[in-house]
Order: sequence, then structure tokens, then C-alpha cells
Amino acid sequence: MFDVGIIGCGPAGIFTALEILKERPKCKIIMFDKGNNINIRNCPKNKIGHCIHCKPCNISCGFGGAGAFSDGKLTLSKDIGGYLEEYIGEEKLNEYIEYVDKTYINYGGDSHIEFDEQFANEMAQKCEKNNLKFIKSPIRHLGTEKCALIMRDMYEKLMSYENVEIKHNTEIQDVNFKEKEIYTDKNIYKCHNIVLAVGRSGSSWLEKICQQNNLKIINNKVDIGVRVELPRKITDSITDIYTNLKYIIIQNPLKILSELFV
Ligand SMILES: Cc1cc2nc3c(=O)[nH]c(=O)nc-3n(C[C@H](O)[C@H](O)[C@H](O)COP(=O)(O)OP(=O)(O)OC[C@H]3O[C@@H](n4cnc5c(N)ncnc54)[C@H](O)[C@@H]3O)c2cc1C
Repeated sequence: MFDVGIIGCGPAGIFTALEILKERPKCKIIMFDKGNNINIRNCPKNKIGHCIHCKPCNISCGFGGAGAFSDGKLTLSKDIGGYLEEYIGEEKLNEYIEYVDKTYINYGGDSHIEFDEQFANEMAQKCEKNNLKFIKSPIRHLGTEKCALIMRDMYEKLMSYENVEIKHNTEIQDVNFKEKEIYTDKNIYKCHNIVLAVGRSGSSWLEKICQQNNLKIINNKVDIGVRVELPRKITDSITDIYTNLKYIIIQNPLKILSELFV
């Protein structure tokens, strides 16, 4: 019998395990991911130039989760990334953002922050006139290709505990919260506490589990990244200072974008 079973080894699952171990280093934890170990996880497209539709996808699944191979830009703002503020309040949320950021730095993230107060204020004014809300947020760039290294270090840290077990290439089919059981197609794992941290790639599965357990599901708003390609001379004045700007578009997105760059 395990104390905690964590389904999904993305940042949510990893941080859950690390935090539990800080408080209770002897806690018996088992973690599952349907994807590969971070040490062998690899997207074939890098070598052969096209996607071969791995099942599950090596980019979005495996230890480290969906962003393991991203360039690791952390938007350090409560205005991005969901509605946690509604549940824990602004003060606690800001405290957690700072804490998570520090944790990434301790695991080797670059300490450089992208933020220029004066520029941000000017942008905010310009945006306001164009029905955009500019998110004035410092951006931490953990470093290109550093994300996977940070995830590897977190993996090593977890593996340094004798009481932690990580099962890769292990897709969880079902859970029974009453019986405290987690099911793969071959085995049953008994866990006193079960954490579901399955991210975007596990969202349909999570929906099914919620329905089976009469849990209400609500639709979240989705942040959409819009790719607008323009000649450098138009965007340089902005992107020389900020490489990763975030706006909330209030209405008529195309008209606003064209006006902003004129
Ligand atoms: C290409 C890309 C680039 C990104 N860049 C950034 C960035 O620069 N900055 C940023 O802040 N965010 C970025 N993100 C978003 C970020 O990766 C996610 O917000 C984050 O990974 C969410 O963490 P999570 O742990 O909730 O879920 P995930 O990271 O999705 O982890 C969930 C894990 O659960 C596993 N899983 C799912 N279902 C099951 C099951 N039934 N059984 C077993 N395992 C299961 C999956 O294999 C996966 O590894 C990026 C995402 C992508 C795809």
C-alpha cells in the first residue's frame, strides 16, 4: 500500500511529489506516466524531420510533461494561466508564483528576468487606447533547452528517495477512490491518497473519471496564442525589449492588431 499515488509526471505531478517529500521525507509515493522516462524521451522529428505520430506523443507525454522541451518562458503574473486567484486569493497566489519561480532557479533555471517598467507602462497606455489589456508581467526565460535539464534534475532528486517509485510507459485506465485503487491494464495499485495531474493530454480521461464520480465539470477559458508574422522593422521597437508579450484582446482582434503596429 502506498501513501500517495500520483497520475501524471508533468510539473503538477512532480511539484506535488517534491512538496510532500519536503514535509514528509518518508512518505511512500508511486508516480505514473504514460510517456517515457525523461532520459530517453525524444521526438523523432528532430532527427528525421517529420512527425511519425508516436503513441503517446513524446513532446507532450512523459516525465517532465508537455513543456519539457519548450524554451521555458515563465510568465510571472497572476493574470496568466487560469483562475487560481478565485480559489486562494491574490496574496497567496503571488506567494506561490514566487515560490515556484525560485524552485526552478534552484534547479538550474537562468536567473535573468525580462522586464522594463517604463516600457511596460507605455505599452499599457498604448494598448488601452486600442481595446487591449497589456499584461505587465516579468518573464523568466529558464533558458533554451534548460527545461529538460531541470526536469532531469527533478527526476534525480525524486529517485534519490528509496520510498519513491516512478512507473513510465504506464497508462492509468481507471481509479476507484472508495477502494483507494489505481488500475493499469495489468495491475492494481493501492494508495491511501490519489492525485490526478494528467494535464491537457489526459483531459478526456479526466472528464470520464469526473463523470463516473459525479463530479461537476466546468469549462475553462482557453488562452490562444496568435502568430502574426510581420517584417522586423515594424516589430523591433517592441520585441527588442520584450520577446514574449501578452495582451488580452477585448474586441475585434484583427483591427486592433493592425492599429497597434501602425
Ligand atoms: C510545446 C509546448 C511549449 C510550452 N511552453 C511553455 C512555456 O514556455 N512556459 C509555460 O509556462 N508553459 C509552457 N507550456 C505549457 C506547459 O507545458 C503546461 O502548462 C504544463 O506542462 C502543465 O503541467 P501539468 O503537469 O498540469 O500537465 P502536463 O505537463 O501535460 O503533464 C501531464 C502528464 O500526465 C501524463 N498522463 C496523462 N494521462 C495519463 C494517464 N491516463 N496515465 C498516465 N499518465 C498520464 C502525460 O503523459 C503527461 O506527461 C508549453 C506546452 C507545450 C506543449
